[in-house]
Amino acid sequence: LREQQSEYLDKPGYTADGVRLEVAANIAHSVEASAAFGNGAEAVGLFRTEMLYMDRASAPSEDELYNIYCQATEAAAGKTIIVRTMDIGGDKPVNYLNIPAENNPFLGYRAVRIYQEFLPLFHTQLRSILRASAHGALKIMIPMISSMEEILWVKEKLAEAKQSLRSEQIPFDEKIQLGIMLEVPSVMFIIDQCCEEIDFFSIGSNDLTQYLLAVDRDNAKVTRHYNSLNPAFLRGLDHVVREVHRHGKWIGLCGELGAKGSVLPLLVGLGLDEISMSAPSIPVTKARLAKLDSRECRLLLNRAMQCRTSLEVEHLLAQFRMTVN
Ligand code: PEP
Ligand code: MG
Repeated sequence: LREQQSEYLDKPGYTADGVRLEVAANIAHSVEASAAFGNGAEAVGLFRTEMLYMDRASAPSEDELYNIYCQATEAAAGKTIIVRTMDIGGDKPVNYLNIPAENNPFLGYRAVRIYQEFLPLFHTQLRSILRASAHGALKIMIPMISSMEEILWVKEKLAEAKQSLRSEQIPFDEKIQLGIMLEVPSVMFIIDQCCEEIDFFSIGSNDLTQYLLAVDRDNAKVTRHYNSLNPAFLRGLDHVVREVHRHGKWIGLCGELGAKGSVLPLLVGLGLDEISMSAPSIPVTKARLAKLDSRECRLLLNRAMQCRTSLEVEHLLAQFRMTVN
């Protein structure tokens, strides 16, 4: 597989039977973008922006952010970058915001939930992304969405940010797409309604696993229960991918699950449009993808969803792997 990786570096992701699956990169700063594209990333599926706010005395200015996003679009040379607005608060403290410590940070004051209180921060970030969208293919993605109220509120704020730029005659991409992270389980049950309001989705398998199974993703005592192969989780994913496609919308996955080679057949079986991962995993993922048959992957997923335990799913994947290699 190792020798084959370089062969796939500049090629788009396809299964053996010609089904397209875009392989994208997760980055946390614009300086990582060129390395990601050098590794064969077809896009940036997740630009985590919280680092731009952390370990400093005050929030970054609009121009500072604008320059960072422009740097990323330059490296992208026309490829798409999904910029996720700040996922700060909770377990990612930012001193100058003075958010008190919480007992349950993962269930607390985090991501989109803090935007209302820190509105100038959100407005500034939206304006900087919009301004950079005049120079490259950017999309905006909101973390931790859990309800329609939040979606409508965000759309209102985005419209306001656009209007402020228009009135100053500052150019931006009028058709910029707005998406949400699918990482809070409630969204799985209103996905049809979300499709009416939102252009695209990205499954945050790290948090979605944590919240669906009620298992802290960082607590060593319960890692045994933190398992994305839980049949309940797989059934949930199948439901959302089907619904999103039924509505003609786009859905990717940007959690750690995307880089797990043994799980790739299930992700192909789901029929996702994209998987996004840390850049070093991209070449091997493309090479693995080229060996898979999408119809066999779909049958495998169907069988996995009928399993009663995660362990049964693991056995199924191990068996499948032997037939592929
Ligand atoms: C996720 O939750 O899967 C995700 C990609 O976001 P983060 O890991 O930044 O919470
Ligand atoms: Mg998350």
